[in-house]
Amino acid sequence: MELRICHLYPDVLNLYGDQGNIICMSRRLKSRGIDVSVTGACIGDSCRLTDFDLFFIGGGQDFEQEVLLGDLASGRAADIRAAVDDGKTFLTICGGYQMMGTHYVTSDGVRCDFIGALDLYTVGRNERMIGNMMFKCSEQNGGSMIVGFENHSGRTYLGPGCDPLGTVVCGSGNNGEDGTEGARYKNVFGSYSHGPILPKNPAFADFVLENALSRRYGEVHLDPLDDKFELAAHEYMIARLAK
Ligand code: GLN
Repeated sequence: MELRICHLYPDVLNLYGDQGNIICMSRRLKSRGIDVSVTGACIGDSCRLTDFDLFFIGGGQDFEQEVLLGDLASGRAADIRAAVDDGKTFLTICGGYQMMGTHYVTSDGVRCDFIGALDLYTVGRNERMIGNMMFKCSEQNGGSMIVGFENHSGRTYLGPGCDPLGTVVCGSGNNGEDGTEGARYKNVFGSYSHGPILPKNPAFADFVLENALSRRYGEVHLDPLDDKFELAAHEYMIARLAK
């Protein structure tokens, strides 16, 4: 088996070690003897999104998001929507997650029209939501507990067209109001959790990888790995945040 990963805007969207998610996915695949390729798609790059199985978009501040609007409007947003409709797997974090929605009105009142692949939108406020976070994925999303870190001014509101990724246990999540965190639509996963999210949440990492492999090869279950260190970090943060 092989998995072709596309890292969208790696030079612009990469906060708090988000790139670690790419390293984590690559290592977890290679440890199982699965070939993996990683291709970065920067502004203006003319790669075909149909050539990939899994897409990753990291976080970025309002400034970086505004920088990307031109590239999105020149065809990339339409290509991303087509890949989503085609059932391709996406992992999107914070600013990248917000960009999968329809629009963002920043705390300065600037309206950004985003990709529009997911039925959600974001509104910026002056008060940021910053700190360690913990949330429980819904059963549809594997049911695991996730520990991470959030830092955003945007409040995200989900429409009826997508489901939350999970329920906030500690921290703010989507908007600090309704207890939801992240979003799931088709094979798109969105979360506010930096950290990066995958290395210290190995069950969720494998859930995302199995999702992408299963779309391509039929139902795939990955063999367990020795996650001693990953689980030590995971359990440590759960204990710390549960206090
Ligand atoms: N610019 C967005 C916000 O502040 C996203 C920030 C981020 O990706 N950490 O809401």
